[in-house]
Amino acid sequence: MAQRWSISNALRGMFQRETITEETWEDLETALITADFGPDIAEEVVEALRADVDRLVVDDPRELRRMLRETLEERFAAYDPTLTLQERPAVILVVGVNGVGKTTTIGKLARLLASHGQSVVVGAADTFRAAAVEQLATWAQRAGVEVVRPEREGQDPASVAFQTVQRAQAGGIAMCIVDTAGRLQTKGGLMDELGKIRRVVEKLAPVSEVLLVLDATTGQNGVAQAQAFIEHAGVTGLVITKLDGSAKGGFVLAVQERTGIPIKLIGQGEGIDDLTGFTPHVFVEQLVG
Ligand code: GDP
Repeated sequence: MAQRWSISNALRGMFQRETITEETWEDLETALITADFGPDIAEEVVEALRADVDRLVVDDPRELRRMLRETLEERFAAYDPTLTLQERPAVILVVGVNGVGKTTTIGKLARLLASHGQSVVVGAADTFRAAAVEQLATWAQRAGVEVVRPEREGQDPASVAFQTVQRAQAGGIAMCIVDTAGRLQTKGGLMDELGKIRRVVEKLAPVSEVLLVLDATTGQNGVAQAQAFIEHAGVTGLVITKLDGSAKGGFVLAVQERTGIPIKLIGQGEGIDDLTGFTPHVFVEQLVG
């Protein structure tokens, strides 16, 4: 099935031409900008390809498709998408603003890890929204993993995170995924809260990953949103959600390059199995066609 964020349709006409002309380059740049790569990356990619085409004296547009794939793959692969989960328990903090798909991602990630034979506990440290706790508990149940809930509404999120790691240690559970709040209106407070969760958890165990969840449909605005978390929460990896929607695949490369943080997982649907590791080669194949 063609991905909706694929640029293959936009490029089809271009690759069907007899030779590479000035129009080819204009079409390519437009396709990349439309796909949300951002004007800077679009221009850089076009310039790099132009130079290669001149150097190698290429005039077959089909050859250009292969070169485009190679160029994009090289840029994507400059970052390591591997999750670092060697510690036991491996503690994963999941951060991001409300609505991006954080809770859903935790459910999917719990399932993904469980399907690889790992025992998992999730912690509901977004303690100010009773609905958030219930939603996470429902996902945990679907994924077939344990959940640690706050004992009362408004309990200190750091203490729930602490209890989750304690539970993992006591039960010999391999993976510990902690949900956190995402109230953007109190950014200072939220960042302080995330810092405290981290400090408290680190009294028990090192934090293996801090995953920032970003919604691909926010496009370039998502990059700005990411900066505060990156500055204050020690983000180690990005999860891009809603790539099944009307989102443009170029956002994925733009956000990785502009933040310098690797993409580790991508979400492509609302179902529990709709989360996969990020594989540059596969992604570029789908993107360029
Ligand atoms: P949170 O507030 O960040 O915890 O967000 P939720 O996990 O509650 O998700 C918000 C909405 O986004 C829900 O309707 C989810 O079903 C939806 N959602 C999450 N991930 C994806 C995804 O990868 N694709 C699509 N289409 N929807 C998603």
